[in-house]
Amino acid sequence: MSATSKGGVVSEERFDAIVVGAGFGGATCAALLARRGMRVLLLEKNGSAGGKAMVVSKNGFTYELWPVIHAPARSSRCLEVLRELGIEDRVELSVPQVRGGYFVDASGEVRPFPTDPDPEGRAILRLLGVPEAELDTAIRVLAELVLLPAAQVDALDETSFTKWLEERGAPVQVVTYLHALSNGIFMVPSDVLPASEAIRTLQAILLNHGGLYAKTGGIGRLAELFADTIEENGGCTQYRARVRSIEVEDGRVTGVTTERGRYRAPIVISNAGLQTTVLRLVGEQHFDKGYANRVKDLVPSWGMIGVRYFLESERIDDPYALVFSERGYWTTDRWLAVRAGAALPREVVMWVQVPSRNDPGLAPAGKQCVLTGVWCSPDPEAPLAEKEAWWRKIDEVMERVWPGFHSHVSSRETYDARDASGLSREAAFGGVGGETIGLGQVIGQCGRSKPAAQAPISGLFYVGADAGGWGCGTHQAVDSGIAVADLVLRYHRLRRGLFRAV
Ligand SMILES: Cc1cc2nc3c(=O)[nH]c(=O)nc-3n(C[C@H](O)[C@H](O)[C@H](O)COP(=O)(O)OP(=O)(O)OC[C@H]3O[C@@H](n4cnc5c(N)ncnc54)[C@H](O)[C@@H]3O)c2cc1C
Repeated sequence: MSATSKGGVVSEERFDAIVVGAGFGGATCAALLARRGMRVLLLEKNGSAGGKAMVVSKNGFTYELWPVIHAPARSSRCLEVLRELGIEDRVELSVPQVRGGYFVDASGEVRPFPTDPDPEGRAILRLLGVPEAELDTAIRVLAELVLLPAAQVDALDETSFTKWLEERGAPVQVVTYLHALSNGIFMVPSDVLPASEAIRTLQAILLNHGGLYAKTGGIGRLAELFADTIEENGGCTQYRARVRSIEVEDGRVTGVTTERGRYRAPIVISNAGLQTTVLRLVGEQHFDKGYANRVKDLVPSWGMIGVRYFLESERIDDPYALVFSERGYWTTDRWLAVRAGAALPREVVMWVQVPSRNDPGLAPAGKQCVLTGVWCSPDPEAPLAEKEAWWRKIDEVMERVWPGFHSHVSSRETYDARDASGLSREAAFGGVGGETIGLGQVIGQCGRSKPAAQAPISGLFYVGADAGGWGCGTHQAVDSGIAVADLVLRYHRLRRGLFRAV
């Protein structure tokens, strides 16, 4: 039977490798493997690529479903992928000049970050309230953070970012800002975020800017472009093709089963989430008990909950911004207290993004789609009352930071962790599935302790934010896609050329 793509049934067809899922990790990995000569089948349950960063169009607006800010911009690994695939000319990338932040001080006054260049950061430090006597200390800590050599960064897997900042005597205002920013990048409490992951990522962003954007569709468009090249390079891509199970015989993968049929390959690379892959798609019974238990113990990142506002007129000038306050960032204790019923703080850290400020073509003339997001439990089944409290909080913060905001709004949609789970991974067990990033970038799950991308079953690999990469969400997934493509190609070549035919 011959291979047919896009909607056709391929049964018992053999491929060199099957990639399950066309998120940023899966699309990158599948595209690179096809480009490097492997016969690849990419199976995606949604109607297009992009996973959690998928782009949609509705009523003249084009947008990711929530704020998605890709960073770093200038040294993004996406640029390497575009180059290797030979498709740089298919997309126009931009890096917007942004204000970057709105700080709400203790009195409730909203202080927008300066728009003028501020190379040393003194204007921002003063705005944050760093006393004059502590400015030099603040700059020294920031300089050390930016310039710390890679080997010293790598050695900080077991040190929390909070501890690293405290040991340097960073002024409380700097700690506040970096905690709010790292909450927003990693979606985990800063006191469990490894200093290695935080510093490596912040160095890349502070030196190379953030907010890389693809015109005519947003950053999510890059995953679509990557996936488009698979067929051009001799592979197959199937959308609306949900993989029900990954088949294993005698400790070795043999293929996958979908609603459309069975596909065979000696290599399966799963972008469906590490826990979901092990516990649902493959099945716990195929793994050593100790490994399966370690997989169950892995902790997710937070989920994100938010509101999409559609405005009749343009109210916000920024392509994106972080809104934060002195007490609004999350530590483990503050988070647990709110989860146990304590009132939400007056301010919460919040991302705001306006796609049409990157590319005016993404909204009807004079209108705006405004995407907002705050942190929530990754549980897709979180109670409605809990979600409503967050949505009300977002309405409140939007009006405080942009007075009169709600008079511009013509319609409003809410989203929560259930939507992220629907676009990405099925919950492996209760309480998870709607994570923003994937597995949490916490001590014990990053750097040398990051789960391995090669599973303890021959031919099974994980790709995406859960394994093999570092950095901020989409960037981490692409970094993983590149690393896993290298790993898989080596495995494939060794088995075919040096060991035995597979
Ligand atoms: C609300 C929100 C805001 C975010 N904001 C940012 C941001 O500002 N900046 C940033 O960089 N990142 C952000 N992220 C995180 C970022 O989007 C993710 O970390 C990244 O996209 C994850 O990519 P991935 O490749 O790991 O997998 P995913 O995006 O999870 O993709 C997995 C893919 O696999 C498919 N799949 C799963 N199971 C199956 C199956 N059984 N059969 C077939 N296909 C399957 C899914 O449909 C999906 O397409 C945000 C995420 C969310 C939810």
